[in-house]
Amino acid sequence: MPSVYLQTFGCQMNVADSNALAHEAWSLGCSFTDDPRDADILILNTCAIREKAETRVYGRLGQLKTLKRPGSRLLVTGCLAAKDREIMREKAPWVDALLGPRDYRSFKSLLTAWGVPTDSPPPETPMRLPSAEDAPDADAPAEYAHLRALVSITRGCEKFCTYCIVPYTRGPLESLPPAVIEAQIRREVRLGAVEITLLGQNVNSYNYDGLDFAGLLRRLGRIEGVQRLTFLTSHPHDFTPRVVDALAEIPTVAPRLHLPVQSGSNAVLKAMARLYTVEEYLDKVAYFRERLPGWALSTDLICGFPTETEEDFAKTLDLVARGTFESAFIFAFSPRAGTPAATMTPQVDPKEKLRRLQALNAAQNEHTRRFCESFIGETVRVLVSGPSKKDPSRMAGKTGHNLTVVWPGDGRTTYGPFVDVVVEQAYTWGLVGRVA
Ligand code: SF4
Repeated sequence: MPSVYLQTFGCQMNVADSNALAHEAWSLGCSFTDDPRDADILILNTCAIREKAETRVYGRLGQLKTLKRPGSRLLVTGCLAAKDREIMREKAPWVDALLGPRDYRSFKSLLTAWGVPTDSPPPETPMRLPSAEDAPDADAPAEYAHLRALVSITRGCEKFCTYCIVPYTRGPLESLPPAVIEAQIRREVRLGAVEITLLGQNVNSYNYDGLDFAGLLRRLGRIEGVQRLTFLTSHPHDFTPRVVDALAEIPTVAPRLHLPVQSGSNAVLKAMARLYTVEEYLDKVAYFRERLPGWALSTDLICGFPTETEEDFAKTLDLVARGTFESAFIFAFSPRAGTPAATMTPQVDPKEKLRRLQALNAAQNEHTRRFCESFIGETVRVLVSGPSKKDPSRMAGKTGHNLTVVWPGDGRTTYGPFVDVVVEQAYTWGLVGRVA
């Protein structure tokens, strides 16, 4: 049977898509290889979110040109396949086919056209997942990597934030049928998953025949075997008290919410076309804090967005300094060709962007450290990810709040999936402790 080499660049949506494509190939009897020289079919699942990601993809395509055997086929999938369809045909004519994220329904027929038989009996061995280069658990040992699974619930996005390329590459929003999502979760549970992350560019806009995200959460919260349920990413405009109420009812949901605010200035939020004000955002956070005390709130922030004045920035800094978030992913604005923000004026000087980035990081680190310190002396439940990357003599895992925990290995060969750890030390990056 044909063997498949699959390499994934980019975000968790791509990791989930790769998983689904791999499953389709596996169900037709394909096997997987980590060596492109051995593969009959090579798949590169690509990312277009930043220029750096694109450069890496084109670099890898150049390597695959020389590694690919005569007669084997090269398929490029993902956002760059949608965005650079014409450019790629010129730049990399050795690519045999392109499928953007909205074309994955044609994947099976493409494999059939390439000679993969459709009448093979279902494989008897479990699917071995191909590596996902930028996935959080990419180099987790196989005995732990399968404990977490990503399951897409929507595709595409129609919010058109002015800095984002996604609506142009992934197309308009499409909500997947709940029965399809449930079947995929059950399949992942059968393969050993205990933590399920529901994925979408904006999960809160999920709507399938009137079933909204709150309703979907309630339905998925009943699936047996899921011990931790979480989701990414929420858009504040569509995040409603109904969702908070649903979260409060589901015992397995992980106590964390990622709600990207992006800026503390209404003028900048308007320039970003984010469709909410800081006041509206904070109202939603207040309800969330009241109904779900003890949860961790994380956010995304962009500093140095075009038109951001010192006064605008001071509002963002104030939001962070007040301790609104337990953690934050903070970025200096980087223009993305093809988006309105790339040509907005005035752009902020790169040195100034760096200064703002450092100031925000310093302010947030203080609160993140304090949040971590609040766990000292507590016993936390940790989902094991494997030996620590920095020090393999220690084990590592994640709490429900998404905090990294490390503890000394005690010679056991297997742990978990969950381990209770008594927290002894806290840092900005996470916790250190001992097995309870
Ligand atoms: S919500 Fe905005 S930032 Fe998120 S994917 Fe859609 S357009 Fe991009």
